[in-house]
Amino acid sequence: MEFLIATNNKDKLTEMRRLLQAYGHTAISLEEAGISSMPKETGTTFAENALLKAKAACDASGMASIGDDSGLEVDALGGAPGVQSARFSGIHADNEANKRKLLQLLERTPFAKRTAHFVCVLALQMPSGAGMEVEGRCDGLIGFAESGENGFGYDPLFYVDGVSFADRTDEEKDAISHRAAAVKLLVEELPNIS
Ligand code: IMP
Repeated sequence: MEFLIATNNKDKLTEMRRLLQAYGHTAISLEEAGISSMPKETGTTFAENALLKAKAACDASGMASIGDDSGLEVDALGGAPGVQSARFSGIHADNEANKRKLLQLLERTPFAKRTAHFVCVLALQMPSGAGMEVEGRCDGLIGFAESGENGFGYDPLFYVDGVSFADRTDEEKDAISHRAAAVKLLVEELPNIS
């Protein structure tokens, strides 16, 4: 099946393409569909924002559309940055400033209390009006320093079993990531959606 991925984040698009391809599905970008604008992410939950994006893309294209809203929840920060992950430092998608702010806020937080979770909610909107939402999670720890060059966003600070997401190959990240878990659930549910 071909899906439209309702994101302007090139890194998310790359991951979604790769993950869907593993199940024999294909994905096109907003640009390829000729869609230049997406609604503001005004929701207060990942699910609300994912649905907002999926619906807008489906309405504009008439295609089965997937919205991805995701982020990092840090226990010591009461779940922040959460839905604000892309805008944590105030400027949308300034990854360097976002990571700096996270490290500063956790400066005095000891190793054992640096637990965190990546969350990815995918909303599928079909032209028929049918749809679904699925959530994938990955548990880890925020390190004291960045490590690795792969991935994007907070990947260099997010450690699972002592290895950061950015120190993992694409295949290694996909084996445990929140996005991979969500795609798996979505693909499993597809036969029940028309
Ligand atoms: P949004 O879903 O467009 O609001 O943005 C999600 C933000 O969460 C991204 O800009 C990243 O900072 C972060 N994020 C989401 N998924 C990942 C991931 O797989 N690795 C690293 N950062 C991520």
